[in-house]
Amino acid sequence: MPESDTRALAARRLAPLCLMLAVGSVLILLQDGAAGLNTGWEARFGPALSGLYAVAAALLWWRPRHMDAVVGVTLAFTGVYFLGALYEGARRDTAQGLYVVSANAQFLPLIYVGAFIALRRGAVWLSGALYLALLALYGVLYRDIVQAGGAYQQLSGHVWAVLLLVHPGCILALQYITALRGRLQQAEREAHEGKERFLAMLSHEIRSPLQSMLGSIDLLALRLHDDPGRRAVDRLRRAATQLEAHLRDVTEYTRLESPDWRLHEEDTDVAQLVQEVCDQMAPLAEHKRLALHCRLAEAAPGEPPLGIQTLDPVRVRQILINLLSNAIKYTPDGEVTVHAALHTAGARPTRLRIEVADTGIGIDPAQQHRIFEPHVRLEDPRGERVGGSGLGLAVVQRLVQRLQGHIDVDSLPGHGTRFTVTLPLRARGAPPV
Ligand code: ADP
Repeated sequence: MPESDTRALAARRLAPLCLMLAVGSVLILLQDGAAGLNTGWEARFGPALSGLYAVAAALLWWRPRHMDAVVGVTLAFTGVYFLGALYEGARRDTAQGLYVVSANAQFLPLIYVGAFIALRRGAVWLSGALYLALLALYGVLYRDIVQAGGAYQQLSGHVWAVLLLVHPGCILALQYITALRGRLQQAEREAHEGKERFLAMLSHEIRSPLQSMLGSIDLLALRLHDDPGRRAVDRLRRAATQLEAHLRDVTEYTRLESPDWRLHEEDTDVAQLVQEVCDQMAPLAEHKRLALHCRLAEAAPGEPPLGIQTLDPVRVRQILINLLSNAIKYTPDGEVTVHAALHTAGARPTRLRIEVADTGIGIDPAQQHRIFEPHVRLEDPRGERVGGSGLGLAVVQRLVQRLQGHIDVDSLPGHGTRFTVTLPLRARGAPPV
């Protein structure tokens, strides 16, 4: 997720908290007011502070981009408010004054925490400035309160001294945690850049020779006329195609974790896309003597035509290729069927449903929840070793999630498996979600 989106999300999460603070501070003011505990400062500026929280909540919700400014100003005003309350409380030699000092003293560390969590810059400055103001006020009050004040004022002075001792520890700990977080983010970025470089290397250094190998294998097949030679070429082609598929899964799986991953939606002829994938996989099915049926809605009476839809054709193609190659791989005999159809609301298509069903080995119900995990490969009940990276379904599930759809599996061991992918469709020309 890009950083601006993350910040916007954080701002939206903070907004309800700010609203709660607005309501909570009003309730405390009312309760303390009823008990006669509010100082003049609190009575005067408390309602303004509650109002500020309400405004901040609205700004965070509707203008999340300005989160730093909104949080910075709100925290700074809150700090000034607490300092004023502490000052006024400490000047009273009464139990009420002591209550005001000890009650308000607790909140200053929360301001430091808020600043370090929500601000990208300036948290140290804000916390440091508040601490210096606390120290300065202590200096101003020292003679009157700590030296010459009454019993309550002296206790307030002690509370204040404790604050001065504890707060630098709070600020340093927060600074340390923030530095660690920064290093962690930096390490994540570097690891990701490493992966990206590796992917680029995979694409350029491996995919290109692999493509030329596949081309040469096809040329070789044209020249060989004897059976053993053809079988050898077939094995070569299968191995190279499998390698290409692993490479594609590893590349896509890594790419899916990238914060820069984007959908590339365009108007797509769905029937053509599905038919192309079926044609591409037909030789594999043929090689295993499986019947491959491609049932498109166009051909079925009563179903709306698939038509042109706005979707990411590369990703939908990859979902279909992975499901179809698994269906062929795990079906020793029988058939594999692809069925694509639309769900409509009135005249508008709302969802695309793609089913890939086979009459293969099936999946044990107890294991079905595991098959979407990366690198999970189930034991083949026939004891055969079939090649695979264990990433095919992990890629499919993540792609389906990114496309905001869902995938279901329905399988009976020994009878076959059906994967159903449902993808939401947006009206053509509508903005991306
Ligand atoms: P693999 O590379 O092993 O095919 P996948 O992630 O594509 O990895 O699939 C995970 C596991 O799910 C497979 O190892 C297999 O056991 C099971 N599986 C997937 N598709 C089917 C299917 N159509 N029929 C039976 N088992 C399947």
